Amino acid sequence: METTKCLIIGSGPAGYTAAIYLSRAGISSVLYSGIQPGGQLTQTTTIENYPGFPQGVEGFDLMENMRQQAVNVGAEVRNGIITDIDLSKRPFVATVDGTSTISADAVIIATGASAKYLGLADEQKYAGMGVSACATCDGFFYRKKVVAVVGGGDTACEEAYYLSNLAKKVYMIVRKPYLRASAAMQQRVNEKENIEILYNTNTVGLFGEQFVEGAHLVQFKGTDKEQMLDIDIDGFFLAIGHKPNTDFLKGQVALDEQGYIALGGITTETSVKGVFAAGDVADPHYRQAIVAAGSGCRAALDAKSYLDAL
Ligand code: NDP
Repeated sequence: METTKCLIIGSGPAGYTAAIYLSRAGISSVLYSGIQPGGQLTQTTTIENYPGFPQGVEGFDLMENMRQQAVNVGAEVRNGIITDIDLSKRPFVATVDGTSTISADAVIIATGASAKYLGLADEQKYAGMGVSACATCDGFFYRKKVVAVVGGGDTACEEAYYLSNLAKKVYMIVRKPYLRASAAMQQRVNEKENIEILYNTNTVGLFGEQFVEGAHLVQFKGTDKEQMLDIDIDGFFLAIGHKPNTDFLKGQVALDEQGYIALGGITTETSVKGVFAAGDVADPHYRQAIVAAGSGCRAALDAKSYLDAL
């Protein structure tokens, strides 16, 4: 079986930063990219809050640069998904793509988080037929059409703004009477004439022959103002937050009540000695690329200390 000093799982800012630090410290590591090489940032447009880029940087370019930097300093970056891992004995053993195995003295989990869905049966029914959780991936198909974005946070505003430059009209479906997004994002959305925000509104279903043709909404649910409303749309975009990618761990490390990896103290060490976590998979609070990159650095330094003491 192949062995490595440190196995890094995930290729977002956390995983690549960990790989850069470990390689520069002379520790051999293998990084598996996972389902979405480059992570969530590859699905966004310009990033304006990552320091060092005064004009902003495209998410895809930023991640490609991080990958290249990791490779340049000697990291082994591979495509592949860790489908199973045994953290109960040492060295740890991981299964790649359900077939080969690799053992490691230390593991850094940086698998990030994935988009959440509302849980409506219609989201499944119209998957790929008008339902999407990524405006930058699928927005192109909705040029001059009408779309809806669900959510009132920064992601929803960003997606609505992006779509408003392509689509004829964008509805934002917001369950609260206000947006949760930052003031800057709210302003951007409010300034667009083709974005209409439907506050106090929830989606109860979608309709359409084969593709999405509209959404059934309920407004002021549970009050005496409650009313049903149907809107005609061609695309339905989810932007209601993310869930951590921890299913493959099957309870082998301690998680919090939302499924994020629980970190005991001030380091990145998980409940299993020698297993560290970095980035959104262990961060229900900040969820920013720069924070993820910083925690990838911390995880690499923690893993190095652990490996040096073995
Ligand atoms: P958030 O958790 O901030 O917002 C989620 C939104 O979806 C909220 O409006 C929430 O409503 C709504 N929502 C959640 N569940 C449901 C549901 N079941 N039905 C209807 N609506 C629902 O997630 P984001 O992904 O927007 O942002 C995550 C983090 O990433 C934040 O810290 C954000 O600031 C950051 N971010 C920063 C960006 C930037 O700076 N450029 C860009 C994108 C994200 P409610 O308010 O009622 O809970």
